[in-house]
Amino acid sequence: MQVARRLEQIGAYLFADLDRKQAELTAKGVDVINLGIGDPDLPTPPHIIDALMEGATDPRSHRYPPYPGTQEFKEAAARWCQRRFGITLNAGTEVLALIGSKEGLAHLPWAIVNPGDVVLVPDPGYPVYRSSTILAEGTPHPVPLLRERGFLPDLQGIPAAVARKAKIVFLNYPNNPTGAIATREFLAEAVAFARTYDLLLAHDNSYSEIAYDGYRPPSILEIPGAKDVAIEFHSLSKTYCMTGWRVGFVIGNAAAVGALAKIKTNVDSGIFRAVQQAGIAAMDGQQQFLAERLRLYQARRDRTIRALRSLGWQAPDLRATFYIWLPVPDGASGAQFATRVLERTGVVVTPGAGYGAQGEKYVRISLTIADDRLDEALRRLTGAFGRAPRNMAEGSRSAPPAR
Ligand SMILES: *Cc1c(COP(=O)(O)O)cnc(C)c1O
Repeated sequence: MQVARRLEQIGAYLFADLDRKQAELTAKGVDVINLGIGDPDLPTPPHIIDALMEGATDPRSHRYPPYPGTQEFKEAAARWCQRRFGITLNAGTEVLALIGSKEGLAHLPWAIVNPGDVVLVPDPGYPVYRSSTILAEGTPHPVPLLRERGFLPDLQGIPAAVARKAKIVFLNYPNNPTGAIATREFLAEAVAFARTYDLLLAHDNSYSEIAYDGYRPPSILEIPGAKDVAIEFHSLSKTYCMTGWRVGFVIGNAAAVGALAKIKTNVDSGIFRAVQQAGIAAMDGQQQFLAERLRLYQARRDRTIRALRSLGWQAPDLRATFYIWLPVPDGASGAQFATRVLERTGVVVTPGAGYGAQGEKYVRISLTIADDRLDEALRRLTGAFGRAPRNMAEGSRSAPPAR
């Protein structure tokens, strides 16, 4: 058997080396601490679990759910968006339930892209934008996110010939992996760009609720006229600690939402009704627990950034997401640096190249790990690199970059 060319194009797994080292160390009895995983360590709040259990005993749950999500779920999502962003959505045509936002992101190019069409994907970026483009036989065009631009893409710098061939531009703020946030001015510029080139702006807002210091990330649909050109992906995963439940939704432009819905009727048969009930309980229920959890992440953020900077490493300021996008302190690649960190401390960090070529000289550190484990990891890092050879810290004594 030979697999399809489109699958080969997605490429080999980048972290095979690091994974092998990790397995070796674990086999030798080393207590490996993984700061590579972007998955909340805290449990789903009890009122959400209760709603699932209740939903599971409802005989309606035992049959196929409606393809686009139950009307109740879509209305709850629309209400949540109204409360949170002040935007008004038609639950019938402008909201679609997803089996996690990843599912919708992965199917979107099927609905929009013809073979050979260009899709603009952020580099670094969540890998699904690129791989889903390839699976739809489109051509991903990486748009660099550079530190000197606050990790916002230079849309005007995209050659017009490329932009004219593009069908989708993917954006994601607050951003994984860089932790960057977008200004409203930038979002307005992105909407204007999509209008100029008649392409679909697909904004991934999975981290809209994971923000600190009073910052409230906006929705792209707050920009006047955005609904003409944009859709936005939302996820209950990060907000409500529900990564395992697989539930999210997409909102915005009715034609694009409808096109994605048509793909989905041919691929899946909806989300377990009880999970949708739980999603409603999450969105309609008390949001107080979220503030408490954000305080916890914020405290982890502060301790981690302090520890990294004490090593002379350029940890950035972080206003949203739970990721620290750390420039590699010496000339090494992220993969070499991650291997060195693992060998010297038993701590796993993610090499940035996994998110695109522009991530080559970075590693990503995630804060979604129990406090005692995080503190132990920071102790080990400080111990191993505190009086590091010159080359570990060289060129990194300057102030951290502004975001
Ligand atoms: C976690 C994540 C997702 C996927 O979320 P699910 O709803 O769990 O599928 C999508 N985009 C980004 C940028 C993410 O980090």
